[in-house]
Amino acid sequence: MPLLPLVGAELEIPLLDGRLVRHANFDGAASAPSLTAVAEQVTAALPWYASVHRGSGYSSQVSTALYERARRDVGQFVGARSDDVTIFVRNTTDAVNLLASAVPGRVLTLDVEHHANLLPWDRSPGGHEIVQARPTVGGTLAALEGVLSARPIALLAITGASNVTGESLPLPAIVELAHRYGCRVFVDGAQLLAHRRLSLEASGVDYVAFSGHKLYAPFGSGALVGRRDWLDVSEPHLAGGGAVRQVTTGSVEWTTAPARHEAGTPNLIGATALATAAAELSALPEDAWREHENRLHRRLAEGVAALPGIDVARVWSDSAAPIGVVTFRLAGTDPALLAAFLAAEHGVSVRDGRFCAHPLLDRLGWGEGAVRASIGVGTTEEDVDRLLAGLTAWVTGDR
Ligand code: PLP
Repeated sequence: MPLLPLVGAELEIPLLDGRLVRHANFDGAASAPSLTAVAEQVTAALPWYASVHRGSGYSSQVSTALYERARRDVGQFVGARSDDVTIFVRNTTDAVNLLASAVPGRVLTLDVEHHANLLPWDRSPGGHEIVQARPTVGGTLAALEGVLSARPIALLAITGASNVTGESLPLPAIVELAHRYGCRVFVDGAQLLAHRRLSLEASGVDYVAFSGHKLYAPFGSGALVGRRDWLDVSEPHLAGGGAVRQVTTGSVEWTTAPARHEAGTPNLIGATALATAAAELSALPEDAWREHENRLHRRLAEGVAALPGIDVARVWSDSAAPIGVVTFRLAGTDPALLAAFLAAEHGVSVRDGRFCAHPLLDRLGWGEGAVRASIGVGTTEEDVDRLLAGLTAWVTGDR
């Protein structure tokens, strides 16, 4: 049973032999289908949309109220502290680019990050350093400490969960380590928050970013949430209307965050969708969510590991339970061919490629790419069994 109803859950797709089968979607780690509740909320908001923060007409007032309520709900989703700021952006990539220009010093990351948590930091004024992850969690923390103790680092930017392996470093240890050296922590929550809760207040994490389209809302909305001070004074993310207090010919007085970074007409529908998805995930009973994901993840991971000639991606030998993502490679198999076979013959969508994590794929020796299957709130046991049946057919040549 799906844990939450999703739009399109009953969609059927054609197989090569002409049969129609229900689509088994294992590509939610790239973009997840929308929750039914999100679709309903968006439909309810559509008649009301008007320009946010731009006037006192009735629909403008309603739109502004909806937008600011969405901001509050999105902040609550990640346990924002009372003095944190929630900035609406397009997605995680946008959020990291925004924060990169606000960091007043050097940034440190690991080489296992998604490109979105690597490339933007090169643009930060204080520069960017990349540490190579070691084969154990302890070794990796020690390598990070080696840099933190050697020179001032303003921000440690770390993934909440890898989009390739699903693994995480222990956040309490990361936060304790970074704060001991006066360094703030940014968590790339793009994958993590579709599987686990995170509270900025409880964890001490300073910033988090995430994308609506990985959290069961449509494209175009995301958020950066965290400490206000850097963001109140940094260069506006975009220059334009809404980000200013006063403009004269030749001079501009920018306002503070969040409006400072949200120039242009705000994406009210996107914000509403993101906030609704966040509220739905927050309302999920923790135990039921854990049980659903662990059960399906175990079934998938064990089934995959039992196939001959298969390798499963892993960075650390001793990391804690990963989120529901399994990435693998079959000796002698082109990942794109396998993904096409699973779609055409079994109605199963997986992701193939290098997952915007080329340094990680290279360090695994998987430069040719791999296949990723991710579990979400809509995944069922029948989906997992269909994927495993497809993989078995491929491996045994029984096609
Ligand atoms: N970080 C991680 C771990 C991701 O998996 C992704 C997307 O796959 C991103 C960042 C970038 O997200 P977006 O493409 O929504 O900006």
